[in-house]
Amino acid sequence: MAANPAVAIDGPAGAGKSTLARLLAEKLGFVYVNTGAMYRAVALLWKERGGDPVEIARNLEFDMKGDRILVEGRDVTDKLYTPEISELSSKISTDPRVREALVALQRSMRERYPVVMEGRDIGTVVLPDAEVKFFVTASALERARRRKAQFSDPRPLEEIREEIERRDRRDSSRRASPLRRAPDALVVDTTGMGIEETLEVLLRFVKDRLKAYNRKNQKRR
Ligand code: C5P
Repeated sequence: MAANPAVAIDGPAGAGKSTLARLLAEKLGFVYVNTGAMYRAVALLWKERGGDPVEIARNLEFDMKGDRILVEGRDVTDKLYTPEISELSSKISTDPRVREALVALQRSMRERYPVVMEGRDIGTVVLPDAEVKFFVTASALERARRRKAQFSDPRPLEEIREEIERRDRRDSSRRASPLRRAPDALVVDTTGMGIEETLEVLLRFVKDRLKAYNRKNQKRR
């Protein structure tokens, strides 16, 4: 049987991936999977309980209801997007064993549903056979501005930009699944573009690709 169709969205921190992925999933009737939230959830549980992040990742009970994130049934959304958890999640995500556990969870979601999955390594490692791949980016300053507005972050813009650049560097230079563009991903630079406008671009591209996917599967039947 053909696997469920999947849309992979990768890119650096704060490029607008989450909002775009959520809206795209709504329009397509697919399940939205935010993999960054999984790394953040492991970081949060580790901060709260201590222990081994690898074991926490292997036993993670993760769920999403709309844009709310549930861990073991508890809504932890408001605890996940603090500067401390951003930093901790970026650190634990360099451990290949943590990644292996979360990648297995991510793949199992695609086995169950058609997905729009966003993260850093979706098109390259998690779902290299995804029907559609995007690499969404924007300048570091624009990404810092968006983070500040979205989370009402009181820190000076310059400090947020530095944090974003530090995480970019760590995500791109780590040995296990570094952030990089899949060769077959469409690059979308959203600097100076609004969400609606960007969504239109992605949607047009996805619809074209999914037509080809549906044709291929009809022939197989
Ligand atoms: O996307 P978000 O900023 O919420 O991700 C939090 C952290 O999790 C990132 O800084 C990155 O280090 C890590 N991450 C990852 N691989 C993914 C998604 C997120 O390493 N697929």
